[in-house]
Amino acid sequence: MSAAIATEGLSAGYDRRAVVTGLDLRVESGEVVALLGANGAGKTTTMLTLAGELPPLAGSVAIDGAAGRAPLYRRARRGLALVTEERSVFMRMSTADNLRVGRCDRARALALFPELEPLLDRTAGLLSGGEQQILTLARALARWPRVLLADELSLGLAPMVVDRLLQAVRDAADQDGVGVLLVEQHVEKALRVADRAYVMSRGRVVLSGRADEVRQRLHEVEDAYLAGGAPS
Ligand code: ATP
Repeated sequence: MSAAIATEGLSAGYDRRAVVTGLDLRVESGEVVALLGANGAGKTTTMLTLAGELPPLAGSVAIDGAAGRAPLYRRARRGLALVTEERSVFMRMSTADNLRVGRCDRARALALFPELEPLLDRTAGLLSGGEQQILTLARALARWPRVLLADELSLGLAPMVVDRLLQAVRDAADQDGVGVLLVEQHVEKALRVADRAYVMSRGRVVLSGRADEVRQRLHEVEDAYLAGGAPS
């Protein structure tokens, strides 16, 4: 079976300037993989390239076995979901209507997040930040994606909400075989839900392995964080 995400020798960046180079990354279906690294290490650039928002400068990207350069909307139709810290909800619509648009399976959303049930009649703009992000993730998972790119989906949220979101991501991988790539500022929390992790520094992977092994080597992760930055 093909991997959920596979890159080979991927270089990515802006205006032909590579800020990520030589990236060989693999996420299997049903696997949660954390992508860690300091500010500016290249995590978001990697995610945007996997999502089809940025063209690869070199190398290849295959999502669920499909290689190519399709834009995000086309990849989304084929089962790719991208969730970022920006709450992707229609603020003027009710929670219920948010779960009605965009090919959402409302029953699945409510099965995954029963806490949305009492909020169905509320305008999404009046939900708390955490509730909006739960709705965002519910909308993404309610489209039965094959692959989920989660880029700092828990940014600025309370620890309990972070745990809730990460557990839902884990469950989607375990129960439905979704392949997840997770960028997360909460390194410890990310490594607790992840199967494996890659640590990036200056646009390259400097450490990778099983999440529990990477946890043991957290000081190296921290060194990579301190080294930070993109290639000069
Ligand atoms: P953070 O944790 O701060 O989000 P990151 O690991 O996601 O960092 P990226 O956002 O991918 O890192 O940035 C990698 C490099 O690319 C940085 O040097 C950054 O300044 C640069 N960069 C990011 N966005 C652009 C852009 N639109 N144009 C040019 N360079 C950019």
